[in-house]
Amino acid sequence: MYDVAIIGAGPGGIFSAYQLKNKRDDIQVAVFESGNELKKRKCPIDGKKIKSCIKCNTCAIMSGFGGAGAFSDGKYNITNDFGGTLHEYIGKEKALELMEYVDKINTSHGGENTKLYSTAGSEFKKICMQNKLKLLNASVRHLGTDINYVVLENLYKELADKIDFHFNTPVKKIEIIKNGYRLHHSKGYTDCKKCIVSVGRSGSKWIEKICEELKIPTKSNRVDIGVRVELPAVIFSHLTDKLYESKIVYRTEKFEDNVRTFCMNPNGIVVNENTNGIVTVNGHSFEDPNKKTENTNFALLVSKHFSEPFEDSNGYGESIAMLSNMLGGGVIVQRFGDLERGRRSNKNRIEESTVRPTLAATPGDLSLVLPKRILDGIIEMIYALDKIAPGTANDDTLLYGVEVKFYNMEVSLDNNLETNYKGLYVIGDGSGVTHSLSHASASGVYVADKILETI
Ligand SMILES: Cc1cc2nc3c(=O)[nH]c(=O)nc-3n(C[C@H](O)[C@H](O)[C@H](O)COP(=O)(O)OP(=O)(O)OC[C@H]3O[C@@H](n4cnc5c(N)ncnc54)[C@H](O)[C@@H]3O)c2cc1C
Repeated sequence: MYDVAIIGAGPGGIFSAYQLKNKRDDIQVAVFESGNELKKRKCPIDGKKIKSCIKCNTCAIMSGFGGAGAFSDGKYNITNDFGGTLHEYIGKEKALELMEYVDKINTSHGGENTKLYSTAGSEFKKICMQNKLKLLNASVRHLGTDINYVVLENLYKELADKIDFHFNTPVKKIEIIKNGYRLHHSKGYTDCKKCIVSVGRSGSKWIEKICEELKIPTKSNRVDIGVRVELPAVIFSHLTDKLYESKIVYRTEKFEDNVRTFCMNPNGIVVNENTNGIVTVNGHSFEDPNKKTENTNFALLVSKHFSEPFEDSNGYGESIAMLSNMLGGGVIVQRFGDLERGRRSNKNRIEESTVRPTLAATPGDLSLVLPKRILDGIIEMIYALDKIAPGTANDDTLLYGVEVKFYNMEVSLDNNLETNYKGLYVIGDGSGVTHSLSHASASGVYVADKILETI
């Protein structure tokens, strides 16, 4: 009987494990993870023998120690303005305090030489406002994909002797037993007094099933749909040099929808992402100067939330992503000039383009994939951004589609992030409350502290 069992070794699970053992060495903690330990996480796509997703049992990109964030750009945004709604449960001050605490742990485990950027006092706020754009407040610690990996390696080294890690051990079922919970997993079962569920996006279908079985109420969440923009890094360098990541929101004139920039990767690369077998697009960048490219990429996303009579927001996003997979065999790339002229991009036009794509995507036509309302919003936003970063609306700017940000349905939780069962907590992206590294990590620390108060 463990004192605490954690399901999922993403940032949420790792930071709850870290906090529990850091504060109380005497308690017994186990972590169950579907994927591999960090050094064994390897996507088989090598671009030569294996060119596209072969649908492994557990996706090495999304699962394993470090979770979905392990190969991410490692941008820890310290803000309540985006990245989740943790502050609605624990208060704004506490949420920021915990995100700063997480930052201290990251910077004392290999991230000490990385830079913290901030929008505070930035002259860009005014420039954005003058052009109908809103720059959101945030401090961002950019670890970069390489240092993010080092931090995870160091955290694992520190925890490996103190915690029982069970890799390649997906938990199948949670059973309520006297004084705790029984976790049924691929190797048998394990009992615990308290259980923290931190299964992230890849565990979305599973957590839905668990909530249904245990009658834990849930409600539908939104889905964000859009494209990833790639352009020469110099076009955005005045913003990215100072802020690294700028979260900018634009309200469209036609539909009054909000379009926002998301996940900016200066001098980065565009990558494929696989969610439940559907290939979408994402971006990375590295701290290592040798790995930097001449391009910057970022997403432009529009949020859609369906509630009545249709409530499957994720299903809507999945259908659009599947359409792009059907037409392009994966991600589609199109020059902005081709989109504006109502024609598809082809191999020649992409090759002649002045922007060299960093992802080998299929040249095609995004207007056959994205709904008009979303596409019109994105085009309006590109012209709005062109006013603060001239060159954004150039013909050769590349658009990759589709980028979809799926959110888990929101699990009904109290202010301790505890379900209607005492001692059963749901944290991180799996709860629908967070959608970022810093919020997920902070939720892990928060719940660990709450558990320690009771043990
Ligand atoms: C390519 C990419 C880039 C990103 N970049 C950034 C970024 O720069 N900044 C940012 O803030 N966010 C970024 N994100 C989002 C960020 O990674 C997530 O918000 C964060 O990882 C959520 O942490 P989590 O612990 O809640 O879940 P996850 O990181 O998803 O971890 C959940 C873990 O649970 C495991 N699991 C699932 N089901 C089970 C089960 N039944 N039994 C056992 N284990 C299970 C999974 O294998 C996984 O390892 C990025 C995401 C991706 C995919």
